[in-house]
Amino acid sequence: MDQRAFYVAGRPEHGTDPVTVRHPFDGHAVGTTTVATAEQVERAVSAASAVAAEAAALPAHARAAALDHVSARLKERADEVAHLITAENGKPLKWARAEAARAVSTFRWAAEEARRFAGDLQRLDTDPAATGRLAVVRRFPRGPVLGIAPFNFPLNLVAHKVAPAIAAGAPIIVKPAPATPLSALLLGEILAETALPAGMFSVLPLPNERAASLVEDPRLPVVSFTGSGPVGASIRRSVPDKHVTLELGGNAAVLLCEDWTADADLNWAAERIATFSNYQAGQSCIAVQRVFVHEWIYDGFLPRLVAAVAALRTGDPSDEATDVGPLISEAAAQRVESWVDEAVTAGATIEVGGLRAGATYPPTVLSRPPKDAKVSREEVFGPVLVVSPVPSDQAGFEAINDSDYGLQAGVFTRNIQTAFTAHRTLEVGGIIIGDVPSYRADQMPYGGVKGSGVGREGLRSAIDDYTEPRVMVLTDL
Ligand code: NAD
Repeated sequence: MDQRAFYVAGRPEHGTDPVTVRHPFDGHAVGTTTVATAEQVERAVSAASAVAAEAAALPAHARAAALDHVSARLKERADEVAHLITAENGKPLKWARAEAARAVSTFRWAAEEARRFAGDLQRLDTDPAATGRLAVVRRFPRGPVLGIAPFNFPLNLVAHKVAPAIAAGAPIIVKPAPATPLSALLLGEILAETALPAGMFSVLPLPNERAASLVEDPRLPVVSFTGSGPVGASIRRSVPDKHVTLELGGNAAVLLCEDWTADADLNWAAERIATFSNYQAGQSCIAVQRVFVHEWIYDGFLPRLVAAVAALRTGDPSDEATDVGPLISEAAAQRVESWVDEAVTAGATIEVGGLRAGATYPPTVLSRPPKDAKVSREEVFGPVLVVSPVPSDQAGFEAINDSDYGLQAGVFTRNIQTAFTAHRTLEVGGIIIGDVPSYRADQMPYGGVKGSGVGREGLRSAIDDYTEPRVMVLTDL
């Protein structure tokens, strides 16, 4: 069984209260760690604060070398990392391998940004009164960062906090989700191999209420949170004066437009939607949840979608052939079941689906759901999608925007004008043309509007977030 230390100011330590991590598929124990004590948290915070000036002054080559090292070591250990992600999170091995590969790329991109990131020059002499003036705009770390991560990408979303902090020269304390600390602790082990100054990173397993107190520590001026909306809102309320980034939930939508009629196009959309509403059992903030189809193609498309969803293999996530594994817990699967039951009672039709078995919920398609059902309005975070016809592309855009969330949207069209209209109209942080909203490249700006959050991740965006510009005006005397 995997037994892991956590990291206080770069060094492995153990706390007093034990934590047993269990496999969501069958509940067997897969690893243990301990919770950081108050004294250990205090040491991590004071070390981060003490090293901040040294971290900010680290040369680019030192920051990039540390990031390259982490990327290379994650690549070498990718198989072990993927198995650990599957064991603690329950996502199928093929998706755990995809996550491990993304973490390799997240650190590699961070190294690139560390080398490139330089600020800029602005001429001021466009005005006669400013003749001889030149502005040097550089970005300096705001100070130590507190990163708080969710369970659904236990490695790569921790990487999205840690890698840009190192690239920017900011110390970071990262807190993994209570159900899935092991991959983050493995990352801590690899970070400890680097030559970064000792206080520059800590990885601390903490229960929710202790994380809430840490959020309020004035020595951590930046809070980067990824998780659910209510927790994000409570963080924002508790520290209104801090620099807070919130990456929250969503109920991502796709639209199949009027021009999307070719057989091959319909099959591609069906396959992509089936895969990306159910990958990780739907536990992704950009898993496809709402599908809007131009009424012109609805009847031809629905059977293809249903067939593609029915073809997915549900079962043991350690099996390389499994497409859909369990949710994080039986309670999560029960909640999804109750939402589907509610929608069916209110008039939705189950096109494909089946019976829950413990924490595993079968991939489910509901057609024509009521607009106010939870499966239409809230974030399902489970393997369920809802399909509705729309009378026009414009009505589809309005339906996508009729949501409290706005993370990403997918628009299946080959019409460039429709793509431009979507870009202008959709109230989301990202629009994917010709594919599902679940597409994310780790270097691109990523985040949402409305209830989906504040600010952006993606290496360059997160570096901007962790730093602030300071102008130096030079005078040619
Ligand atoms: P969660 O909000 O329950 O927990 C997230 C993290 O916050 C955990 O580490 C948890 O321990 C911590 N936490 C809980 N209460 C806290 C408090 N009061 N103060 C400080 N920290 C606290 O979320 P989850 O169930 O782990 O993750 C699922 C959610 O995350 C979904 O809503 C999903 O959409 C969202 N998510 C968003 C993105 C994105 O980039 N927008 C990515 C992945 C997941």
